[in-house]
Amino acid sequence: MSYFRHLCSRFSPTNARRRFGYLSSGFSTSSAPPDRYAGLGPTGAHQKPRVVVLGTGWAGCRLMKGLDPAIYDIVCVSPRNHMVFTPLLASTCVGTLEFRSVAEPIARIQPAISREPASFFFLANCTAIDADNHQVKCESVTEGTEKVDPWKFTISYDKLVIALGAQPTTFGIHGVYEHAIFLREVYHAQEIRRKLLLNLMMSDVPGITEEEKKRLLHCVVVGGGPTGVEFSGELSDFIMRDVRQRYSHVKDYIHVTLIEANEILSSFDVRLRQYATKQLTKSGVRLVRGIVKDVEEKRIILNDGTEVPYGLLVWSTGVGPSSIVHSLDLPKSPGGRIGIDEWLRVPTVEDIFAIGDCSGFIESTGKPVLPALAQVAERQGKYLAILLNKIGKANGGRANTAKNVDFGEQFVYKHLGSMATIGSYKALVDLRQSKEAKGLSLAGFISWFIWRSAYLTRVISWRNRFYVAINWATTFVFGRDISRI
Ligand SMILES: Cc1cc2nc3c(=O)[nH]c(=O)nc-3n(C[C@H](O)[C@H](O)[C@H](O)COP(=O)(O)OP(=O)(O)OC[C@H]3O[C@@H](n4cnc5c(N)ncnc54)[C@H](O)[C@@H]3O)c2cc1C
Repeated sequence: MSYFRHLCSRFSPTNARRRFGYLSSGFSTSSAPPDRYAGLGPTGAHQKPRVVVLGTGWAGCRLMKGLDPAIYDIVCVSPRNHMVFTPLLASTCVGTLEFRSVAEPIARIQPAISREPASFFFLANCTAIDADNHQVKCESVTEGTEKVDPWKFTISYDKLVIALGAQPTTFGIHGVYEHAIFLREVYHAQEIRRKLLLNLMMSDVPGITEEEKKRLLHCVVVGGGPTGVEFSGELSDFIMRDVRQRYSHVKDYIHVTLIEANEILSSFDVRLRQYATKQLTKSGVRLVRGIVKDVEEKRIILNDGTEVPYGLLVWSTGVGPSSIVHSLDLPKSPGGRIGIDEWLRVPTVEDIFAIGDCSGFIESTGKPVLPALAQVAERQGKYLAILLNKIGKANGGRANTAKNVDFGEQFVYKHLGSMATIGSYKALVDLRQSKEAKGLSLAGFISWFIWRSAYLTRVISWRNRFYVAINWATTFVFGRDISRI
């Protein structure tokens, strides 16, 4: 009944007028065609101050969750309308989890985005920031549809939070963008799953040569950090449990190779690293120490001249500042991220904050640039939501009005530890602040249980928690889904 009432109220003519009425929401239509908005103008005295959030990752979403919609109107701009629960993304590539289980719609994280008349989500990319005029420039997402022109518009902000994340590093190696698949978004995981299953099907076609069969079924992962190792572990589980049973014709051909220039899992201590190496090797993952020099359509070439033919290539060598971050005329931290001070403000400009993987402390703070981790992004988002609510309550919410507000305590990061699953019901858990500190650090089945329990409780909504639990149970009982949809 309450659901029905909610539906009626959302689609009532009055509500529609309130949400899309130009005047009440601040849209200006000056030079734009009648059905297109030229942008969201500055907020008036009769409106709430507006927080514009760029990005729907860990940082942006945690911030929006904590913002008080009674104080601010929230406008979010991002090319995706959901948050990705990245620690479980690798599991979706082989069907341990379904894609929807790791995607959390924004409107569920901050319902005001779809309910409040002047709060919005725009499926668009931010292309530039005009800090002098408190404005961001955006371009709608067309997803390569050539018939649709990208829609350009501007949004005025009272407070701007940049949470644009990072982009995969390729070290300028030729062919990576063209032939490898990254693992950062749900569509990457979908691409990996489709390619993997396609290669499995193709390798069984009559007349295919032995050599081609081996190539198609050779899965190569470049990068031995937590993401590369977790993905390799998932793949080897898939091969050992599902491929061997259901594709028995090709079971002896399919292999996983993990290429890393240095040590795998270098952020973990030596004992846990050795355990992971032993375990991965036992489950059939070939570990290769090497540096990739060139990537071609069907093979990669290492520095020492070795040629490695592949059917599936996944690239996971870490992240660096994205092109939009490079292009912004804002102070930068060592390493090129957007520079921030102890309160996560971007110095030299008014009312701009930056959080998550796109930001780093400027040199003068004397603090190190924090690692590109969900736990950093999430805690920065949480801290900034509290800070912005406090600023709003102290009448500093509007543009250029927070100069005299006491910002209070600085942001302090305390590392909670690291976890990584390595397949075969095994994981590494290191709950120490650093490799030298005392505390819990273990590997094996108990760690795997801790890993699963920890992430199940961290999944954002009850709906997705339920999906994840059901997916895990279904996979355990019936195996992974191998349909190529
Ligand atoms: C597979 C995988 C597994 C991981 N596992 C862990 C883990 O176990 N533990 C851990 O701590 N960390 C993990 N991480 C790292 C963690 O996911 C990141 O540190 C975290 O996502 C950073 O959050 P963020 O909000 O800064 O950026 P992101 O989550 O990357 O979000 C950036 C957002 O900005 C949007 N965006 C990009 N360009 C534009 C633009 N021009 N305009 C508007 N919006 C834009 C993107 O669409 C996205 O919504 C993992 C990462 C991956 C990829």
